[in-house]
Amino acid sequence: MAEETVVHLQGVRKAFNQGTPFETEVLHGIDLKLQRGEFCAVVGPSGSGKSTLLNIVGLLDRPSSGSLQISGEETTVLNDSSLTRLRGHTIGFVFQYHHLITAFTALENVMIPMLGAAGFPNPQMRERALQLIDSVGLTQWKDNMAGNMSGGQQQRVAIARALAMNPAVLLADEPTGNLDTKSADAVFSLLRKVNQEQGTTILFVTHNPDLARRCDKTIQVVDGMVIE
Ligand code: ADP
Ligand code: MG
Repeated sequence: MAEETVVHLQGVRKAFNQGTPFETEVLHGIDLKLQRGEFCAVVGPSGSGKSTLLNIVGLLDRPSSGSLQISGEETTVLNDSSLTRLRGHTIGFVFQYHHLITAFTALENVMIPMLGAAGFPNPQMRERALQLIDSVGLTQWKDNMAGNMSGGQQQRVAIARALAMNPAVLLADEPTGNLDTKSADAVFSLLRKVNQEQGTTILFVTHNPDLARRCDKTIQVVDGMVIE
């Protein structure tokens, strides 16, 4: 397959509290290129800037300077509504805590991003959500309240939800951090399956060296710098 750069950061810096006495630069000029279908582990000590990096790649936060291209489009020049739109159609997130709506069913949780994008419900959404729930192995649980599911099941629902819009990039910030070894392994295998079947580019933050080793490559974030 021809190489296709999906994520490209050049000289990305991030400072918080800019222009105040509390200004601190957290990312110090990150260069990073991810190809379509690449599954990249992100490791590094707590506080080194991993989540800040993911939030920037995921268009939840803006770089203070530098360039971020997603599928060749320069994002730093976009206004907030264009960023929100691009994020909705290009990026999926999975966090350490699942952030599901616990009083909604698994199926309803997966439908939410599609509802958000279209503004109104339609039968195709339900079909797609059923497929996604099936692909994460939870068909039997589809009508369970998310709040009543196990941690591993909740993370699988969160992954199905993150895939609702068929994103080119999946950002997973310590998605296995709260899970026992067996559930962590199941969640990792699911991410790998998505990566291989959909060609999704994945950034996967983990403190687990065994899981990191099973990715295509590993980048290390140390003191706001990336070491490949
Ligand atoms: P990691 O995910 O590697 O643990 P983070 O990206 O969460 O690291 O944090 C990197 C540094 O940036 C930390 O020192 C943290 O305190 C600081 N930081 C993160 N978010 C903010 C914020 N919104 N305001 C100020 N400082 C922040
Ligand atoms: Mg973090």
